[in-house]
Amino acid sequence: MAYDFDLFVIGAGSGGVRAARFAAGFGARVAVAESRYLGGTCVNVGCVPKKLLVYGAHFAEDFEQAKGFGWSLAEAGFDWPTLIANKNREIHRLNGIYRNLLVNSGVTLLEGHARLVDPHTVEVDGQRCTARNILIATGGWPQIPDIPGREHAISSNEAFFLERLPKRVLVVGGGYIAVEFASIFHGLGAQTSLLYRKELFLRGFDDAVRHHLRDELGKKGLNLQFNTDITHIERQPDGSLLVTLKDGRHLETDCVFYATGRRPMLDNLGLENTSVELDPRGFIKVDEQYQTTEPSILALGDVIGRVQLTPVALAEGMAVARRLFKPEEYRPVDYAMIPTAVFSLPNIGTVGLTEDQARSQGYKVKVFESRFRPMKLTLTECQERTLMKLVVDVDSDRVLGCHMVGPEAGEIVQGLAVALKAGATKQIFDETIGVHPTAAEEFVTMR
Ligand code: FAD
Ligand code: NDP
Repeated sequence: MAYDFDLFVIGAGSGGVRAARFAAGFGARVAVAESRYLGGTCVNVGCVPKKLLVYGAHFAEDFEQAKGFGWSLAEAGFDWPTLIANKNREIHRLNGIYRNLLVNSGVTLLEGHARLVDPHTVEVDGQRCTARNILIATGGWPQIPDIPGREHAISSNEAFFLERLPKRVLVVGGGYIAVEFASIFHGLGAQTSLLYRKELFLRGFDDAVRHHLRDELGKKGLNLQFNTDITHIERQPDGSLLVTLKDGRHLETDCVFYATGRRPMLDNLGLENTSVELDPRGFIKVDEQYQTTEPSILALGDVIGRVQLTPVALAEGMAVARRLFKPEEYRPVDYAMIPTAVFSLPNIGTVGLTEDQARSQGYKVKVFESRFRPMKLTLTECQERTLMKLVVDVDSDRVLGCHMVGPEAGEIVQGLAVALKAGATKQIFDETIGVHPTAAEEFVTMR
């Protein structure tokens, strides 16, 4: 049978665009459908605008610290609409770059909602196309628990487009987004509380990192509320929100921001017209090569719910393009040692095993830790401290994990990830000459 395309990609986000561009580069006839925004979550309501807001929030500390270096500043003022308008302009520019990337690679771009009609047919706003293979790369969507008054709450999707910076913000959740946005709102001047249902946020990160960040955020004046949850939210006559907590306490705020995870985006996708199955968590079930239970359909990125990070979606996109159209160059994605950063203020950077993970995997572990005041802060009033931690396997001397909380942790951990991937031992770390004076050198001087 002759198909219109060799590959039809649903979703022009991180993974979909990567797969489409490389597939077209390998000579395939490729189409992409996008219903909302080119570049997907990362470019429009994720990594990129988030990082711009984090930069914006950090200026509050920069202005304060500048005084220690002799600078005197007039009272600093902040204008949220300016930041949001400038951010929107940059995102618009990036949308254009994504359009050019696709078009210049020879990919056919269809702007509209795509729905599967059968295992080889997709309908985009009434137009039907057939394809030998279809790739579902539809990403995820914020999920807010179904509590009375949830309609008064926002998610990250709305936070990027608020007209005004709320005076008081209550962030709910204990993952990446909660911690990052709590730092953003606090830095920009909102009275910020972070509420998490269990004992300590950032489950899955090294305990030393979680405790250290809790202490640093507390020192900065963020109101951290652990072991509690919201039972309902009411709008008061003056427009503010009254939040009732599980323990019966009430909090008043102007904005309730839920960051309680993301569900796969499967809305009106037509999966019922195929034999694609979901896993027990509701994400699309795939094998190691991103093959769904329908032979002609593949899936990758956030919609398969493995590791919800842009570089992972990119790697999966590359793997799919190669597997289908350049099998001789196919290499599976290696999910071990994925470095990651949380862009809280201060940042977290981490790669490899936490101390607990290493111990529970049976390693005999030696831990090296360093806590210090960053040099830049020595002339300032700021009492922020940096944490660095190495988890080492005693038997092989291999470094199993590197963890950091401090300025530029995300930048520093990228290089360490290369070392860990290459199997570096603690001895190699010790033999590496430091770059002086930096914070990063501490990773090679811990004894
Ligand atoms: P997406 O990028 O979500 O793309 C899916 C696309 O499919 C979307 O454009 C959507 O409109 C489209 N689509 C959906 N359904 C249809 C349909 N039926 N028809 C047509 N089009 C459709 N990751 C990091 O690595 N670093 C970070 O700093 C980071 N920060 C983040 C901050 C926030 C606030 C959020 C929400 C996420 C962040 N992430 C970060 C995660 C990252 O954005 C995702 O892991 C990544 O975007 C996943 O890529 P994807 O291709 O799977 O899906
Ligand atoms: P996460 O899965 O990281 O965290 C969700 C948080 O919400 C957890 O603390 C979870 O608690 C809590 N939670 C879940 N359900 C409920 C509920 N019903 N009531 C109360 N709390 C609840 O999700 P995020 O939304 O923060 O981010 C989604 C993903 O996007 C991240 O996992 C990450 O992969 C990616 N991302 C990456 C970033 C980066 O690389 N810097 C930045 C932002 C997002 P518990 O731990 O108890 O389950």
